[in-house]
Amino acid sequence: FLPQVVKSARAMKKAVAYLEPYLEADREAGERSAKGRIVMATVKGDVHDIGKNIVGVVLRCNSYEVIDLGVMVPVDKILATAVNEKCDLIGLSGLITPSLDEMVHVAKEMERRGLETPLLIGGATTSRQHTAVRIAPAFRGSTVHVQDASRAVGVAASLLDEAGRPDFDRRNRETQERLRALHQERSERPLLSLSEARTRAPRLAFGSDALARPEFLGRRELRELPLETLRPFIDWTFFFSAWELKGRYPKILSSPTYGREARELFDAANRLLDKIVADGSLVANGVYGFWPAAREGDDVVLFEDAAAAREIARFPMLRQQQASGDAPLRSLADFVAPPDTEGLDSVGAFAVTGGIGAEALAQHFERDHDDYNAIMVKALADRLAEAFAEYLHAEARRHWGYGREERLSHEELIAERYRGIRPAFGYPACPDHSEKRRLFGLLEPEKLGIELTESFAMMPAASVSGLYFAHPEARYFSVGRIGRDQVADYAKRKGWSVAEAERWLAPNLGYEPD
Ligand code: SAH
Repeated sequence: FLPQVVKSARAMKKAVAYLEPYLEADREAGERSAKGRIVMATVKGDVHDIGKNIVGVVLRCNSYEVIDLGVMVPVDKILATAVNEKCDLIGLSGLITPSLDEMVHVAKEMERRGLETPLLIGGATTSRQHTAVRIAPAFRGSTVHVQDASRAVGVAASLLDEAGRPDFDRRNRETQERLRALHQERSERPLLSLSEARTRAPRLAFGSDALARPEFLGRRELRELPLETLRPFIDWTFFFSAWELKGRYPKILSSPTYGREARELFDAANRLLDKIVADGSLVANGVYGFWPAAREGDDVVLFEDAAAAREIARFPMLRQQQASGDAPLRSLADFVAPPDTEGLDSVGAFAVTGGIGAEALAQHFERDHDDYNAIMVKALADRLAEAFAEYLHAEARRHWGYGREERLSHEELIAERYRGIRPAFGYPACPDHSEKRRLFGLLEPEKLGIELTESFAMMPAASVSGLYFAHPEARYFSVGRIGRDQVADYAKRKGWSVAEAERWLAPNLGYEPD
């Protein structure tokens, strides 16, 4: 199990650090005993590195030399390091969808420079499909998707084994060819035109009970929220999956296969969390607010005040175009009342972080040769951020009034058995990450220490932001594939060229851009 691997790597690293002064003489002899040298990086614009760091530890304790360039690394630095340090493999990592495009860019650049170093692709939004369809065709060398940390060693070993490599490479290329054919087939399935999709929008009722009125309008800040407040809101299932232990919490603690390891990991996490709560080494800040709102077409329009005279933000939303039987074709805009409704609707927005201080604390552990706790800090910061989002959403429902009588158990809360949703830009119902810029204009989370990168990743990495919709029928969905007509329409609404829209919406395009 991964946590055991990372813990034993820590024991090894600490022992080596202790012995190092005595080994100097040996090292001077300078023989290179590693099985291979790998340069790894989280690509430009992205800040997520839990997965990359785990892979780094696993490779190192299997005798690979890892040069980890960190996060937000530009292509030039990655490729220069690969060449200058004579690396045998290049590993790219990323979590948000714009990083997929940056990975394609790295592959093209490798091709242009005539590099042939095998390229490994990993991270939450990466996939075998995307690697096969977009990345591999850009580069003549081997391009391999690595599903999770447990696969990294096998892939590295296969690529560096002189005898076995041609066979591994051939099978990888065959699989990718098959995945491309599948993708081609899928992308030929017809989409409805945008205008037809709009006629099939769900028709929601906007009676007085659907139009929730918030207790206050405008933004409110929360600084240094006590972490004890957030603790009961943690969804631990995702903590275990960060460590590649798959299973639901709390059942996972008594699993016949994972149970013991899961309990040890859970105890270690809670001991560290106790310390963090006591010494305040992580800080949770957030901001949220409510604004009068109306829907115009597929745009969600927010107004400065109840007079609704001045528009302060307009969020263009995308609509599903893949028909499935008689199911309605959804857009988040459907959950907001049109202007001709009696009474004005309202929409909320939020941005929270649990990660202020996480980088410093992780570095403190790294300096102490303790990757286990360095990774643990980041995984806990992520949990605190998601817990903050859940906590603040409950507050928002109370402010809206309809949540005041809510009495949910922890399980019901985590399963989101309440009225309303909090869609986050970059996720399936609103996949355009760049709308976070507009959201940040409204909320000014920078005042609380939350910033955006050029790819619209939030910094600290342990942050969540999004909108609140209160309609009783509001639900999550996936926009999925969209057609040229919607991309052109969306580009116009955003003041983008079609090419820009195609770049940011790349994962959703239901056609091959010119
Ligand atoms: N409870 C999980 C939730 C992770 S999803 C956890 O603790 O990790 C992260 C956030 O994405 C959610 O809080 C919600 O704001 C948003 N979200 C979830 N599904 C979505 C969808 N289909 N479209 C848009 N946003 C979504």
